[in-house]
Amino acid sequence: MAFLSDGIAAEVVSHCTDLGIAFDQDVDLSRMTYLRTGGRAQLIAKPSTAEQAAGLLAFLTSHGIAYKIIGNTSNLLFLDQVDYPVLVSSTNMADLSVDSATGKIVAEGGVMVPDLSRAALFHGLTGFEAFEGIPGTLGGGLFMNAGAYGDELKDHLVGAQLAMPDGTLRFFTLAELQLTHRSSVLRREASGAFVCDVTFELPHGDAQKIFGKMEVYHAKRHKYQDFMYPNLGSIFSGSPYRVLGEEDRYFKFVSAVYYLFNYKVKIFRRESPINRKWLNDVILKRFPLHYDLQPFSDKTFNCLVNRGQGTDEMVRFIRQMEELIDGRIVLENEIVEEF
Ligand SMILES: Cc1cc2nc3c(=O)[nH]c(=O)nc-3n(C[C@H](O)[C@H](O)[C@H](O)COP(=O)(O)OP(=O)(O)OC[C@H]3O[C@@H](n4cnc5c(N)ncnc54)[C@H](O)[C@@H]3O)c2cc1C
Repeated sequence: MAFLSDGIAAEVVSHCTDLGIAFDQDVDLSRMTYLRTGGRAQLIAKPSTAEQAAGLLAFLTSHGIAYKIIGNTSNLLFLDQVDYPVLVSSTNMADLSVDSATGKIVAEGGVMVPDLSRAALFHGLTGFEAFEGIPGTLGGGLFMNAGAYGDELKDHLVGAQLAMPDGTLRFFTLAELQLTHRSSVLRREASGAFVCDVTFELPHGDAQKIFGKMEVYHAKRHKYQDFMYPNLGSIFSGSPYRVLGEEDRYFKFVSAVYYLFNYKVKIFRRESPINRKWLNDVILKRFPLHYDLQPFSDKTFNCLVNRGQGTDEMVRFIRQMEELIDGRIVLENEIVEEF
């Protein structure tokens, strides 16, 4: 249990009410998080302006109340046995404006990345085609410099307005955001800062070509990504298949042949496989991984799925994988520990 005392909780509620901030209380996280896990949240505050977000963070910080910012929770593993005190959600900050003439887009932190991608298509702007299938918000995307197929959010970014934990509003330029592969200043130093809005500038492109690229990416994603069980996309940033191949020469040979037949030469199939169950079964024979209910997707070993095994079992699997991987690729999913 990590709930606030009734008195402090009442103060937070009253502060939210004073600032006009919407909130939910005593929320069952397993019913609302993307992975469908987690205990209860005592309060989820949903500011709808940058000023409200800044005012809320200032209050929480000055009262020593820990909080966690959430977007669409598509990268967050909330633990079943943990109750969380205050979550600050960007869900009510989802305004998006596009200047078709200049290609300038200003989008609030709660805008869904696929909506941003489709808005760019609508206005004939190119550069966001690959983001159509990332099921997160812009705030979550900026936190980890989300990307796909070689494109990253940083590519056309001008800067972002952040509400800092002390309640100030500050514009960070692209350079100040320090966006690197799946990381940013938010992940490293400025944790606790809230992304209020982000500014981009995109070049104009041919709408038909933009549409065509989005269609291709959409179809590709549906081949390798699990869409049936609740999941958090890739567990690790990078390929565990490659890393496990470095550990075990037999697996390296088998996976190289598998890759060759299925992806390069396609001797046995006209299409890439829609799952790698066969290859995953080889991993299970070669490496010491233990679980009661299969915690990964048949489509890819690099995707944790919720089959009702509970988060203890999920975390145990991630830790076993981390041991095998030994730091060669980085954990992308974030486990939200008690705070
Ligand atoms: C099916 C699937 C496919 C995916 N594909 C991709 C992919 O192709 N590429 C990729 O990069 N990722 C991918 N992901 C992972 C995930 O969607 C992205 O990381 C996304 O950017 C997370 O956004 P979110 O709003 O869900 O953030 P959350 O999961 O809610 O939060 C992630 C982190 O961002 C922080 N955060 C969230 N909002 C804000 C804010 N407003 N201000 C400050 N901090 C904030 C949180 O505190 C947390 O630390 C995929 C996930 C799934 C489930």
